[in-house]
Formats: sequence, C-alpha cells, structure tokens
Amino acid sequence: MSTTLDTGPVAELIERLTRLPTVGRKTAQRLAFYLLKAPASESQELAAAILEVRERIKPCSRCNNLTEQDPCALCADPERDDALLCVVEEGHDMAAIERTSHYRGRYHVLGGALSPLDGIGPDELHVDQLLRRVREGQVQEVIVATNPTVEGEATAAFLARVLKPTGARVTRIAAGIPVGGDIEYADEVTMSRAMDGRREL
Ligand SMILES: [Zn+2]
Repeated sequence: MSTTLDTGPVAELIERLTRLPTVGRKTAQRLAFYLLKAPASESQELAAAILEVRERIKPCSRCNNLTEQDPCALCADPERDDALLCVVEEGHDMAAIERTSHYRGRYHVLGGALSPLDGIGPDELHVDQLLRRVREGQVQEVIVATNPTVEGEATAAFLARVLKPTGARVTRIAAGIPVGGDIEYADEVTMSRAMDGRREL
C-alpha cells in the first residue's frame, strides 16, 4: 500500500478534481479529504448525481440551453415572440435575463465568447446554428447580450458583421452592467434597463 498521496486513488481523485473550473490543488485536496471522512453514502450520492445529470441533461437542439426535454421549454413555448432572438454566452446568462420577466423573445446560447488566445474561434461557438436560425426568416431583431468584457465585445462586433447580410436588425444591450462584469450577476433592474436601452450595432 502506498504511504504517500502522490500516487494511487487519492492522488487520482485530487488530480480529477483540479480539472474542474476554479478548483485549485488546495481546494481539490480539501474536497478529497472531506469525501474520505464523510460517510460512504456522501460519495455514492455525489457520483450518482453527476452521472444522472450527464445522462438526462442535454443541450437543446435549437438554442443549446441545457434541458431535460428537446426542444427546451422556452423553445417549445408558443407564447414567446419569434421575431426577437437574444444571443447569450452561456445558459446562466439566459437564466439571469429570464429572472427579469421582461423579455418575451427567444434565445440562442453561443457556448462562450471569442477568445483567440484560448483557441476559441467562431467554429468553437454555435455561430453557424445561429445564422441558420436567423436565415429561417422569422427573426427580425437579434439582441446581442454577450458580457461587457473584451471577449464579449469582440464577439458582439463579430456577430454584427456576420449577421448583417441576413437583413435582421442587430442590437447590443446597453451599458449599465459594469464593464468587465457578468450578465449572470446583474440585478434585475440593471438587466431590464440594459435590455430597454439596447442600440443598433
Ligand atoms: Zn431551446
């Protein structure tokens, strides 16, 4: 039996945990030791929850939002306005806009923002799918609600360029969300104002 934690199953668990976003080595060690000390059921239930999510939750084939049913409830809702399409980076941004109960159009989740340094170009995002949706013809306005970060602004400018030939209006949500901030954390009033104050791109 190994007497150090540099090899073997504990090291393996720590290494796997460090692959998760925001988890550094120290945190991974704390999580691993917490699980080792907790009753076995804790680990079993955590593992089962991870597997269940992987099994049951899939991206919506229309908007890429994670969903149990395809198309997702929002894409399937006949009450939503097909003329408005709001583009966000991630599903949690969509959730933040939905919390305002202010926007009645549909969504498209890009799956991130352009970031050449990280190797994320248009092909890594759901841009083709967005173009296809807009070309179908029902969309009159595309509201670009990417984050007000360098990557989010570059993505907005890129989308304005590629969407232009479709003839749809392309708008950008107004400033108000702090620069470099995340839509995810914007409060409802700020988010509603950002939507109302959108301007042509
Ligand atoms: Zn959907």
